[in-house]
Amino acid sequence: MVKREIVIFFLLFLLGLFLVYTYSEVTKSKERIFERIEQHEISKIAYVLQNMQQQILKHIHEYDYQDLITFFKEKEHAIAYEEMLAMMLTSDVKYSYILYRDEERKFRFLLDASKTDKASFNQKFDVNAHEYDLVYTTKKSQIIRQQNIENLYVTYLHPIIKNGEVVALFNIDFTTDIKSIILESIKPLETLFTLLTLFVVIFMAMTLMQIFHYFITKKKIFTDPLTKTFNRNYLEEISSVLNLGNYSLAMLDLDKFKIINDTYGHKAGDYVLSHASQIIKNSIRDNDIFVRYGGEEFLLFINNRDSKRDICERVRDKIAKEKFVYNGHEIYVTLSIGLHTNPYLEKNMQEAIKKADTMLYEAKKNGRNRVVVYDEKRETTASSSFSSKDLAFVKEALDEDRVTCYYQPIYNHKTGEVFKYEALVRIIAQDGTIITPYQFLPQIKSTNMHYKLTQRILALVFEKFRTNQKLVSINLSFTDLNNPDIEETIIQALRVDQDLASRITFEILESDEVDDIESFKQKIHMLHSLKAKVSIDDFGSGYSNFKRIIDTEANYLKIDGSLVKNIHKNSKDFKVVKSIVHFATQSNMQTIAEFVHSKEVYEKLLSLDIDYMQGYYIAAPTPELLKKEELFQ
Ligand code: GH3
Ligand code: MG
Ligand code: MG
Repeated sequence: MVKREIVIFFLLFLLGLFLVYTYSEVTKSKERIFERIEQHEISKIAYVLQNMQQQILKHIHEYDYQDLITFFKEKEHAIAYEEMLAMMLTSDVKYSYILYRDEERKFRFLLDASKTDKASFNQKFDVNAHEYDLVYTTKKSQIIRQQNIENLYVTYLHPIIKNGEVVALFNIDFTTDIKSIILESIKPLETLFTLLTLFVVIFMAMTLMQIFHYFITKKKIFTDPLTKTFNRNYLEEISSVLNLGNYSLAMLDLDKFKIINDTYGHKAGDYVLSHASQIIKNSIRDNDIFVRYGGEEFLLFINNRDSKRDICERVRDKIAKEKFVYNGHEIYVTLSIGLHTNPYLEKNMQEAIKKADTMLYEAKKNGRNRVVVYDEKRETTASSSFSSKDLAFVKEALDEDRVTCYYQPIYNHKTGEVFKYEALVRIIAQDGTIITPYQFLPQIKSTNMHYKLTQRILALVFEKFRTNQKLVSINLSFTDLNNPDIEETIIQALRVDQDLASRITFEILESDEVDDIESFKQKIHMLHSLKAKVSIDDFGSGYSNFKRIIDTEANYLKIDGSLVKNIHKNSKDFKVVKSIVHFATQSNMQTIAEFVHSKEVYEKLLSLDIDYMQGYYIAAPTPELLKKEELFQ
């Protein structure tokens, strides 16, 4: 947008220059026109004067003006030449007379052809310019530009020379008429120029203001008001143009920051945040880029130099040592950092940030207040190509409280009641559309953002079900379950509220991620000890192993949708589901069939000894908990 303004400003500037140039040219040519007219008029007059001079000189025999005086003293001579001289009087020529210089070097009239204020013979003439004497010394005609005499424009002095000596001179006074006519005729042009210039100047000022305004707002748009660092808008702005080859990328997150807010209040939190970012800013160089990614998370693009890890360590150390004093409270905080030293190896900026965030997650998991550097030899998880929403999308939703849960009823067909609800995460996009987890979960897999999202979901579900006496299922990945902080969150919430605990089921995916079956069993044992239930999610899809499942002592088996959706027409699927149900019953586990999307599937399942069913045929997930009357709509 500002490019257009700059182009307009530049064009206006050129136009302004052009106008100034044209104006000066017009002024110059105005002068030239005056001169040309002047010369034209003078040359006409000079020609006549030359003739007259010759006539006059015929009567002079000696060398001086005395002869002229004698000559013009005679009335008939005076009248004849006066008539001649008077012929020159036009609208342009006001006065014409002949002067001579006497012995005292005073000028006197010999002849005056003027119609008004006529001077008498030999009357003294007060010289107002040195050009009169110049005529005598140079013996050349002179032009006097009159400035102070009203109505006079130019005086033309023409010498009468006899034998190489000036004996008298013609004095022809031009009126101002020509000049004023010319001035009058070009006046509209001048006015037009003035207006045009004014116009251009105003437009230039306006464009300049707009450009100025643009940069001010741009600065506002790109600056985080609390920390005065760049914000995510800036990140978006530079993400396509920044050469990642010149940078290392660090993701920084203040540790247990929530506790500071909870203990000392939000204002204290703000204070710590802004001062911590100031400390970080002071520890980096001008060509590093420091961005508030959201909340208490920052991105640091470290311009290439040897000791990227040292910079991170230095920043971490400075924060850890800093005593933040707010309202008399001494507050200490630490910082965890995930560092990716070669972000240019990633497909794009998003992938690079994701990797740094994965390292941040490691730093958090390993005890916080540390820097974890991405080791390129490590196997990386391929990002899902169909997912469209990125880390920033989830971060924004978390910051703006747009993470929510939908609830899908799990139906007990034997009693006709809702048995419980499965909580399913949703993000409400800024335009209000509801985004399902398939679009953002793969992208944040094994990052710190995923951890933050899980924490938020747990908080939301615990809050909603604390008092409503209903049963609920929460999905947890094995990675989530292995995270000591998530474990801590669960223990803290459920240990004090056994009633809530007894109404909660954790649906855990038994997949290839579960490499350590012993720790998996331990975690399930921990959940059981809290009185919570455990369900094995998507059973029959991946690496499920009957023996292992029996070992885990889960309460429920949720049969994977891929086995359920075609059960009415695929007899093999039917047989597999039948044996799963049999196996579950034998192992004291209840079964849930998901993906019950049609009447046919529903009825087919009735012939099996399935305990519960879930699917769009019964009810879709909704923001509020559906009652049994609202099912099968
Ligand atoms: P972890 O070590 O795992 O990062 O724990 P944490 O408590 O720092 O992380 P969590 O994401 O649970 O909490 C971040 C908190 O930061 C929650 C949020 O209210 C707070 N926060 C985010 N933005 C601001 C802010 O601008 N001012 C203040 N005072 N608090 C903020
Ligand atoms: Mg934090
Ligand atoms: Mg599930």
